[in-house]
Amino acid sequence: DDQKRQEVWSTIEDALLNDHIDQFRAEFLELHPYDQARIFEDLEVDVRLQIYTYLSPEEVADVMEHIDYEDIEPFFTEMDPRFAAQVFAEMSTDDAVDILNELDKNKVASFLTIMDDQSAEEIKDLLHYEEKTAGSIMTTEFVVVTTGMTIKDAMLHLRKEAPDAETIYYTYVIDEDKRLVGVISLRDLIISEDEWLISDVMNERVVSVSVGEDQEEVARMVRDYDFLALPVVDFQDHLLGIITVDDIMDVMQEEASDDYSKLAAISDVDSPDENAFA
Ligand code: ATP
Ligand code: MG
Repeated sequence: DDQKRQEVWSTIEDALLNDHIDQFRAEFLELHPYDQARIFEDLEVDVRLQIYTYLSPEEVADVMEHIDYEDIEPFFTEMDPRFAAQVFAEMSTDDAVDILNELDKNKVASFLTIMDDQSAEEIKDLLHYEEKTAGSIMTTEFVVVTTGMTIKDAMLHLRKEAPDAETIYYTYVIDEDKRLVGVISLRDLIISEDEWLISDVMNERVVSVSVGEDQEEVARMVRDYDFLALPVVDFQDHLLGIITVDDIMDVMQEEASDDYSKLAAISDVDSPDENAFA
């Protein structure tokens, strides 16, 4: 894999050296963002600075989403702040929040000031949730329809929202008070007739988690129910966000390594005793 990346890189490097933007874009964007990120990590700062000018904020956001958030600070610091703010705005809100939580408060504030109002608001709201709760891992890019819509309305809405949604597989249904009252899968939408009402087709027994729920419990629920995403609600059942299964995999990994460190700490404490018996 490394070798393949190396090969691709040498053609990309050529394009960069000769300032061939189109050639660079064609080669680089051909790669999966995961592989783009691995290349990115190995580059010198000045090469990355050149690359930022060749890519859109959205394209850079895709790359950043595949870099460990503990390692990401230098990338956002080296970018032009305006560009960095746009990259944050293009990222999934949950990923943007993970990264911003790693940066110092002043820097975060300055990014939020430059950012467009709507993205800044969404991100600010998410920054308030306590670590390791449902609120801290949810994203606000979900698709929602109302009970009175027809299937046709809902499909048109879904088509409009799809480019920015974290998942289009579930559409959530809210009532006039914005309370979560149902869910409908893409499969169910597709097999329904245009003129049917959402309220007739939706699944009313919707499983949700509350925003303060521990992330470990959320992971357990996703595993037990086999859903691809779970909705997150406040105390009055207002839909605040969703948590998708890919984020749950990160949680499980994090919790497993936490548990492992605890075990390691326990065995460290034990070792003097063992010596006492020697
Ligand atoms: P099935 O497995 O029944 O063939 P599917 O593969 O299309 O359906 P799944 O992801 O397995 O879809 O979801 C099964 C059903 O669960 C869907 O009908 C969907 O509407 C429903 N569902 C999704 N999320 C929730 C939720 N949070 N609470 C309750 N039901 C949900
Ligand atoms: Mg299924």
